[in-house]
Amino acid sequence: MDVSTTLARLGNAAASFLNGKHQLFIDGKFVDAKSGKTFDVFEPASGQMVAKVAAADAADVDLAVNAARRAFEEGPWSKMIPSQRAKLINKLADLVEDNAEELAQIESLDNGKPVTFARMIDIGGTVDMLRYMAGWCQRINGETITPSIPGDWHVYTLREPVGVVGQIVPWNFPLAMASWKIGPALAAGCTIVLKPAEQTPLSAIRLAQLIAEAEFPPGVINVLPGLGETAGAAIAAHPGVDKVAFTGSTEVGKLIVRAAAGNLKKVSLELGGKSPVVVFPDVDMQAAIPGAANAIFFNTGQVCTAGSRLYAHKKVFDQLVEGVVGVAKNIKVGVGLDPATQIGPLVSDEQLFRVTGYIAAGQKEGAKVAVGGKRIGEDGYFVQPTILTDTNPSMSVVREEIFGPVICAMPFDDNDLDRIAREANATSYGLAASIWTSNFGVAHKMAKRIKAGSVWINTHNMVDPAVPFGGYKQSGWGREMGHQAIELYTETKSVFASL
Ligand code: NAP
Ligand code: MG
Repeated sequence: MDVSTTLARLGNAAASFLNGKHQLFIDGKFVDAKSGKTFDVFEPASGQMVAKVAAADAADVDLAVNAARRAFEEGPWSKMIPSQRAKLINKLADLVEDNAEELAQIESLDNGKPVTFARMIDIGGTVDMLRYMAGWCQRINGETITPSIPGDWHVYTLREPVGVVGQIVPWNFPLAMASWKIGPALAAGCTIVLKPAEQTPLSAIRLAQLIAEAEFPPGVINVLPGLGETAGAAIAAHPGVDKVAFTGSTEVGKLIVRAAAGNLKKVSLELGGKSPVVVFPDVDMQAAIPGAANAIFFNTGQVCTAGSRLYAHKKVFDQLVEGVVGVAKNIKVGVGLDPATQIGPLVSDEQLFRVTGYIAAGQKEGAKVAVGGKRIGEDGYFVQPTILTDTNPSMSVVREEIFGPVICAMPFDDNDLDRIAREANATSYGLAASIWTSNFGVAHKMAKRIKAGSVWINTHNMVDPAVPFGGYKQSGWGREMGHQAIELYTETKSVFASL
């Protein structure tokens, strides 16, 4: 496969964006990196280079943090009346919506995902998130409190923006993850230094152009493509950054925490997962089969909440596995920009070797491949949707996050909910889980027993801007979305007035 096949499918707007310059966005201006360095961006479907992007490092981060500081302390943003901030965030949402088709194509080219999903989920989700968070601007309030101290008092709290925030996002939902970060930070009145992932910087650069078009004051949002080890590490360690928000691997999450210790900046983390899909014997198979398949194959399994451990009661185990095998065999794997494609390639060669490496390690440890298991072709980073059976919790494929379309299926022969929950919870992660049953008593009892930030009943991978999202255990710190997201980006100040 050649990259020209994909490029021929781009519309005029996306093609012209791709042919333009891809620079840093600092203090309202597009600039090259101070070092003059760039990095290459590859198309996952062909493995060929499609763009060169300016590579920010510590010097550029410094400029961006200073711009964000100026915009915060002296600029109009944090002092702007809330309705005006909401108007600007809504204007950005409108511009994303107006350019949705172009953004979906850019996202599909850069990440490899099906353009049909990019349109609906990535770009649609970004518009929804920005509009929801715009609504918070006029709803961020403190409270009045009656103290028990003798005398006459007026005691109240103020909720104030935390300040300059650094935001580091991954490549699996590039624009949507950026919107989860910038939406609440902007609503709270913070200013931002955002770093997209090196694999997928393009939609964030297009977003920066839309931020300029919306006429945000300079310095409010700075966008710095660059490498994690340089630009990312500089953001996490910078003494001028008041808070860092990160989505990505648990391993890098721990590095962020260490780097943040220097000035004790606030930290929120959305990390990995190894989410169980727990299927009870009374389940509606018509729903459970496509449900379990989607839980792991959606976005080529590159989803932090992917349902990667399938636990099914032995009465339904064989039928369920057979059903999911059937789905896997019929999924159309292909180039994201082909409208018929249902799942695209993995994002990078690194991810391809990681996923195929895990499958091989699982087989070596005794797992059986029920379907898939192999790379597809020799160009690009395609891998077959895969189901492993005969797996057990001592295997790396069951314990560790694979981040690919690989499910580990395990039967249980038990009716004791505590024991079933113990198995489902036997992981260092705690991001999500789904429970499949017709018995709502069982479903809600299990929901209480699961140690995870999101529990889904007869569904999987559901998120909404109004519903908090985040992890127990090593899946993270804090909750994004809903009113919890606003809490991440505000400080509470208590004021005592002696009357
Ligand atoms: P990653 O390294 O954790 O990347 C996430 C973000 O952190 C990227 O923007 C990355 O920049 C940046 N980063 C990397 N090292 C950094 C450092 N020392 N300081 C500050 N920022 C840093 O994830 P990955 O390497 O792309 O993927 C590895 C694994 O992470 C995946 O296989 C998957 O298991 C997991 N992952 C999880 C999620 C999730 O949503 N929870 C998302 C993506 C990946 P670069 O792009 O330059 O590395
Ligand atoms: Mg990395």
